[in-house]
Amino acid sequence: MKDYMVRATAANETVRAFAVRSTELVAEARERHRTFPVVTAALGRLLSAGAMMGAMMKGDKDKLTLQINGDGPIGQMTVTVDSHGNVKGFPQNPDVDIPLKRPGKLDVGSAVGKGLLNVIMDLGMDKPYNGQVEIQTGEIGDDLAYYFTVSEQTPSAVGLGVMVDTDSSVRHAGGYIIQVMPDASEETIKEVEDKVFLADSVTVMMEDGKTPEQILEYFLGDMDLKILEKTDVRFHCDCSRESVARALATISKKDLDDIINDGKEIEVKCHFCNSSYKYNIDELKDITGARCSRSRRP
Ligand SMILES: [Zn+2]
Repeated sequence: MKDYMVRATAANETVRAFAVRSTELVAEARERHRTFPVVTAALGRLLSAGAMMGAMMKGDKDKLTLQINGDGPIGQMTVTVDSHGNVKGFPQNPDVDIPLKRPGKLDVGSAVGKGLLNVIMDLGMDKPYNGQVEIQTGEIGDDLAYYFTVSEQTPSAVGLGVMVDTDSSVRHAGGYIIQVMPDASEETIKEVEDKVFLADSVTVMMEDGKTPEQILEYFLGDMDLKILEKTDVRFHCDCSRESVARALATISKKDLDDIINDGKEIEVKCHFCNSSYKYNIDELKDITGARCSRSRRP
């Protein structure tokens, strides 16, 4: 089965909902960044949330970045998505090995630690929108639910899950977001709350073979659920030799000159996807040359 997400409404459009299957994209992130299991789970949850939140944006060129800045051993995690199902992300420290929370349960909260969750939306305006909340548990789902409720005033339930197999591969990854709009009735709110309270975890639902549609069916099946859209999602980075060279041109002239004086070609890696690009001395000189002529322009 391919990865995809669905966007839906229920209860006469007073509830909006998203669900995703993100197993392949989380598996690709794990391979690219060689993440240890607890990092696979933490980054995988953030990637899964990003995959759904991308569908909340309308514009063709809109971009959304989720950033976790915790004091736990993972350090920072960054996920960026567009409105077409392209998701990319990376952890600061991929090789974190900490004790399990309980048998079979990775301790994502401790690996993330305390700190801040940033949500940056670039919707083509002058300034990107930036929402920031304190990390609540570090389990990612709780933290995003808190963000939606406090920062966007939209009470939300967020379930995210990544099941890592004993051989460290990704068995399942996915999630849901259910949001109650301001005009929802008391009855609707109560019904959603009850369902969320009694719900199995995302990984249990996926282990039972539930699709994203069936996950939403569980929560909202009695409330006139309407699936509006189904979109493929994937791990995709838009970096290129040119974009990485542009980033290289932003380091100080002295550092760049030092590299050139060393006389060896250099390898630069894209943070987001770990692709590596090599530049020889002539190319590096072009990069410095391009920068000098640019800075001389009035
Ligand atoms: Zn890249």
